[in-house]
Amino acid sequence: MRVLLLGGTGEARDLAEALVADGVDVMSSLAGRVARPRLPVGPIRIGGFGGVEGLRSALSEYDVVVDATHPFALGMTTNAAAACAAEGKPLLRLERPGWGDRATPSWIWVDTHDEAAIVAGELGHRPFLTVGRQELARFVPRLRDLHVLARVVDVPDIELPEEWELLTSRGPYSLDGERALMVDRDVLVTKDSGGSYTWPKMEAAAELGIPVVVVRRAAGPAGVDTVHEVAGVLNWIRSLRQ
Ligand code: NAP
Repeated sequence: MRVLLLGGTGEARDLAEALVADGVDVMSSLAGRVARPRLPVGPIRIGGFGGVEGLRSALSEYDVVVDATHPFALGMTTNAAAACAAEGKPLLRLERPGWGDRATPSWIWVDTHDEAAIVAGELGHRPFLTVGRQELARFVPRLRDLHVLARVVDVPDIELPEEWELLTSRGPYSLDGERALMVDRDVLVTKDSGGSYTWPKMEAAAELGIPVVVVRRAAGPAGVDTVHEVAGVLNWIRSLRQ
């Protein structure tokens, strides 16, 4: 059985490692967005497929697809659902749980990054943006004159306002480090990414009494079976191999 694993996340790397150990023929796929990606074990391909049509052609080389992309990589998730449905390939979504069950009253939920920018501008003068490089442009118009700290993995390709400070780094992060970084911040902005790598910023915000603007996940494509743990994918693959 040949498995196409759409990745770019820690759990996709964990899954690749487990599948390789199980002797499964797996190909991990990365978008090629970051300059120095953490690479999974096993074979890897890098770069987009060329939309649904490109992915449909690529699927001739695989029997099943696991979509373990980030909860906010909705374009890839939507394309995977459409291409697998069209080609009759089994698809399983691996999606880490969000942080909703740990929410506190100081979290303000919003549906979009544009809304997050408005709310952050109302709440503070020194926002800490942890929404990723690709979303920063959405915050520039509203937060241009504020003392923003923006943390990203790679430098964005847009010019940032003079008042903004850019910090390039990659998780996982420690609570001590996040507390030190956020001590002079007055609002934190994040996606509901879930997982543990970036959770300490939420703990630091709670300790420091800083409000958190949380961008909700959009609903994914309907009718796609979803599991939340790597073990669920391994069970699914094992059942298909029998
Ligand atoms: P996206 O908006 O959902 O996808 C845009 C396009 O990028 C897709 O249509 C596809 O291009 C290509 N692509 C995305 N993931 C791919 C993959 N695993 N393999 C091959 N092509 C892929 O994606 P995104 O939000 O930019 O995320 C890109 C990658 O970064 C994903 O692998 C995701 O897991 C990871 N990531 C995203 C976030 C986030 O906040 N969005 C955070 C951490 C990691 P074609 O149409 O040409 O096939």
